[in-house]
Amino acid sequence: MSRSSIHARPVPGGRIAYVNGRYLPHREACVHVEDRGLQFADSIYEVCAVIDRRLMDEEGHLDRLERSLAALAMPMPMARSALKVVMREMIARNRLKDGLLYLQVTRGAFRRDHAIPAAKRSTLIATMRSFNLAAVAKRRAEGISVVTASDIRWGRCDIKTTGLLANALAKTEARKKGAFESWLVDRDGFVTEGASTNAWIVTGEGVLVTRSLSPNILAGVTRLGVLSALAAHGANAVEERVFTVEEAKSAREAFITSASGGVLPVTTIDGRTVGDGKPGPTTLRVHTLYSEFAQATAKA
Ligand code: PLP
Repeated sequence: MSRSSIHARPVPGGRIAYVNGRYLPHREACVHVEDRGLQFADSIYEVCAVIDRRLMDEEGHLDRLERSLAALAMPMPMARSALKVVMREMIARNRLKDGLLYLQVTRGAFRRDHAIPAAKRSTLIATMRSFNLAAVAKRRAEGISVVTASDIRWGRCDIKTTGLLANALAKTEARKKGAFESWLVDRDGFVTEGASTNAWIVTGEGVLVTRSLSPNILAGVTRLGVLSALAAHGANAVEERVFTVEEAKSAREAFITSASGGVLPVTTIDGRTVGDGKPGPTTLRVHTLYSEFAQATAKA
């Protein structure tokens, strides 16, 4: 792949990345070959949506960044307030109205050794790319297809590490089968989550079901936003519990949540139609409530 082909759409003036204190043209930004993020996926990341130049769910993403770092005994690369300045600077320098802002913190570059070094020397990377809101709106209007795959990930999926190979393989299988997302299934036949999204179903009684938090899933910031928005409106009952693939296939509705897509209806699972095969009213209501919540908490 040529270097330029990874750029979704060119930012006027060129994309800008941030690496350890420097803002650089995206193509010139790089890290050391012995960076532990590269060698061991000894690194964590966050993805935050920027809509109309405002950060969505910023505090939720920074809370989770701190939790992921703490779980791996990595220090914050800088104070939270300074990180917020970098995030805003990235939005300004990339001159993007709508985009996705990526933050990555690695343990830094050290002579290669599996054992984690005692010294603290983190690498902070930020990148930004454009966000095709029209493509997301199309997916929401039409619904997306999901296929299922074995969840072969490690036991700490609650830490948002860049060790995403199992997720990437599952997403690739989905794309090969013409689906948008893979739902990962544990050894007992229960759905854990999507390759890069949280999984939800709506039962025949209108109850929203999503798996409860544990080391087996990522605590999605959008998942939390949806729960908060629903609680604030006293809307539909929610059960945080496991569900099987079979329960999902016979559910009234299903949907996924993520920072990059918000709430997206699932209309088929492994080729089987969910409900009447159209984005359902409960899902679209959840989308509306979450969007209002996200707009109200968005920060410039
Ligand atoms: N689950 C996984 C495995 C993810 O990678 C993601 C997002 O990247 C999510 C769930 C959704 O999380 P969020 O809503 O914070 O984007």
